[in-house]
Amino acid sequence: MKVLVINAGSSSIKYQLIDMANEKLLAKGLVERIGGEGSQLTHKVNGVATEIKQPMKDHSEGLRLVLNALIDEKIGVIKSLSEISAIGHRILHGGGKYSHATLINEEVIKDLKSYIPLGPLHMPANIQGIEACMKVMPGTKNVGVFDTAFHATMPDYAYMYAVPYSWYKDYGIRKYGFHGTSHEYIAKETAKVMGQDISKLKIISCHLGNGASVAAVKNGKCIDTSMGFTPLEGLVMGTRSGDIDPAVLEFVMDKTGMNVHEMLNALNKKSGLLGLSELSNDMRDVLKAEKEGNDKARLAVDKFVYSVKKYIGAYAAAMGGVDAISFSAGTGENRDDIRERIMEGLDFLGVDFDKQKNKDFIRGENFKISKDNSKVAVYIIPTDEEMSIARQTKEIIETK
Ligand code: AMP
Repeated sequence: MKVLVINAGSSSIKYQLIDMANEKLLAKGLVERIGGEGSQLTHKVNGVATEIKQPMKDHSEGLRLVLNALIDEKIGVIKSLSEISAIGHRILHGGGKYSHATLINEEVIKDLKSYIPLGPLHMPANIQGIEACMKVMPGTKNVGVFDTAFHATMPDYAYMYAVPYSWYKDYGIRKYGFHGTSHEYIAKETAKVMGQDISKLKIISCHLGNGASVAAVKNGKCIDTSMGFTPLEGLVMGTRSGDIDPAVLEFVMDKTGMNVHEMLNALNKKSGLLGLSELSNDMRDVLKAEKEGNDKARLAVDKFVYSVKKYIGAYAAAMGGVDAISFSAGTGENRDDIRERIMEGLDFLGVDFDKQKNKDFIRGENFKISKDNSKVAVYIIPTDEEMSIARQTKEIIETK
């Protein structure tokens, strides 16, 4: 079975074609600037890229170009589109309703449209991606895999905010959590490398990229996560503030004359590492500046590290212990200095961190960075959201 994984953005389509018989990546690529100047497809097979520059007025045209590349005599990897058994779509939001991957039909699309206010940047693009596939590949099954789904098992006292109850009832105000596809993959891989049954483990999954979140996974189910109603809550991120006292908003709006839209823009795009360092949202730049003696960069990194450490402590308490802590995404997978700073002082939890192994990690591989006798195992688990989407798509197709 071959599964096409689609991640549609407002002017882009990322894709991967995966052969599920051996979980081999056959081709991957990106369509950019759909509907604008300079639109192009970059199609990669075995690391060799081909660029096709061509105007594309909408997602359907972009997808047609992708499909043509997949069956092309020279750069293609399949003979006919009929070899694609199903299409798995990355979808930002499943509301409070979708707790699992779902076969997409008209009713699901109607629900997704009703979630646009919950994810105004991503949802319209995700829906366009699905509609383009239905138009260009009629008859091929589409499966929706939701970034919120893995968090649907949180208990009410974790996902509710202590605000007037009617806000939840009338407007759906609650914690949804994001990066769910990644946290699910990380937790399952962690159990796999430990050689243990996930239903008996307490795992803290740390997805530390430009967007960052932590999830508490107890017995295979997410019981809490740091992102909230939107991806703004929780950890300090590249440009997002993470947790903040909402009273700050009114205070600063009064002082500066900012409106609420400008304020949220500042919290989403001008805060986090960028806001504190006044330099960059990229951890590499901020760490370099810190080394050169820049104290605002030092503060930004310390604040980031502290926010991750606090959530690890909180989630160990929430789960009544922890068996494994796993690091993933850009910073989590690549920065041994950040991992070491986060782990410092966590020995009280039963972590016996191996600084040398942490430095000697092999990029791109699942890797243990705690000592063998450590009560809490610590791992680097490179996340693979596309593979997770493909596996869930296969599962849905096989059971329907
Ligand atoms: P992501 O959103 O997962 O792509 O992660 C982006 C963050 O990861 C940025 O802050 C980068 O500094 C960091 N990052 C990504 N790749 C690397 C790398 N190869 N080495 C060091 N840091 C990296």
